[in-house]
Amino acid sequence: MKYAAFLTGSQYLYGGEALEAVAADSVRIAEYLDKAACGARVKFKGVMKTSDEIVATVKQINSDDDCIGVIVWCHTFSPAKMWINGLKLLQKPLLHLHTQANRELPYDEIDMDFMNLNQAAHGDREFAYILTRMGIVRKSVVGYYEEEDTVKEINLWLDLARAYDYSSKLKICRFGDNMRDVAVTEGDKVEAHIRLGWQTDYYGIGDLKEEIAAVSGKESEALYSETLKRYELNTDNVAAVKEQIKYAIALRRFLDRAGYKAFTTNFQDLHGLRQLPGMAVQLLMADGYGFGAEGDWKIAALGAVMREMAKYRKGSTAFMEDYTYDLTHGRELVLGAHMLEVCPTMAATRPKIEVHPLGIGGKEPPARLVFDGICGDAVAVCMTDTGSGFRLICAEIELVKQPLPMPKLPVARVMWRIKPDFKSGVRAWLEAGGAHHTVVSTALTASDMEAFAALHGIEFVHIG
Ligand code: MN
Repeated sequence: MKYAAFLTGSQYLYGGEALEAVAADSVRIAEYLDKAACGARVKFKGVMKTSDEIVATVKQINSDDDCIGVIVWCHTFSPAKMWINGLKLLQKPLLHLHTQANRELPYDEIDMDFMNLNQAAHGDREFAYILTRMGIVRKSVVGYYEEEDTVKEINLWLDLARAYDYSSKLKICRFGDNMRDVAVTEGDKVEAHIRLGWQTDYYGIGDLKEEIAAVSGKESEALYSETLKRYELNTDNVAAVKEQIKYAIALRRFLDRAGYKAFTTNFQDLHGLRQLPGMAVQLLMADGYGFGAEGDWKIAALGAVMREMAKYRKGSTAFMEDYTYDLTHGRELVLGAHMLEVCPTMAATRPKIEVHPLGIGGKEPPARLVFDGICGDAVAVCMTDTGSGFRLICAEIELVKQPLPMPKLPVARVMWRIKPDFKSGVRAWLEAGGAHHTVVSTALTASDMEAFAALHGIEFVHIG
């Protein structure tokens, strides 16, 4: 399992006995946090007393693939000039934990030895100064380490650090290019690689067609019967469903072979495929692969990263598209969906497997999973390329029950209310240049996304 390194700042000024006490307290705190942590471990990596020691430790941390970030706490005063060289090298997210080994002051016992040993109030200010002076993005968590809210904040950061690590190695497979003439799904792939770590590779759809042709009848039957256990078959056109089953097997094999965690398709580029991949994409989404339709690689990558951040939390995180509105005065709602590809983790009802004609693309009627969406507070997030950099836009929304059934709508759908109200929320989204493709998440919050943007030096717009 991935871990965060716990470092304690100190110096030689206080003598050997004090340093032993610093180390013992640090081990105790790191072990407490390790037990309380979800999503990553916390491992104590030493008391830092000199610049050389900090540089050597940071080099180890940078080169350790399992280490997602660093937690630093200064038990005593730790003169911050000795942190400069190490901090200049640090390539991983930093959490500054401002805590103490003791909760209460020992009023009867307190003397100068206690004061010299327990001076985080003093030492952490010196450390924070150099972080601010050097412009280092970090999360500052303040409070006694056993407090529930302190642990909660650390856990949120562990999710962020894990997502940062995941993003820095993310590979996205693009089947075909972006949809013709569409602007917002474009973007600077080189800049995304430099800034976010996203490697975006192009493949012709013919490569996937070959993979589909190689799927055996036996493995198709196995996935078909497994799929029928999870979802309700609501069609006589079993052949169309089995076609999507083959796509799902081929897609997964193709992606896994080279370690792709996200992918895109484009309905304008389906040569040799009989259907637009619908249910196939939904089956992969359910297993955590990021997806973007119409060649939208930015949203595919963002979806995969957000799924990783939300991995150990309650809630759903999925690709979405603002499709159409209910503009009834006072209860304005967005209907979010896609042509086919809505993630079944968003389902409030048991998804039904259905086959219906598709008006665009000129292919055979594709199988898809159809369901009504879940309810709850959520965020809708997109990332656009403004021409001078990336902008992450995050709107707070509330997923609601659809007011009436939609018996003729042949796709999965989710409905939501925009915060603070329809007019202001939508106007802000439009003026920020927000996209129609988003990732909707009931597991993540605007502050998660703000921290993600800050770590990557990306502009952040918060609507709510
Ligand atoms: Mn779309």
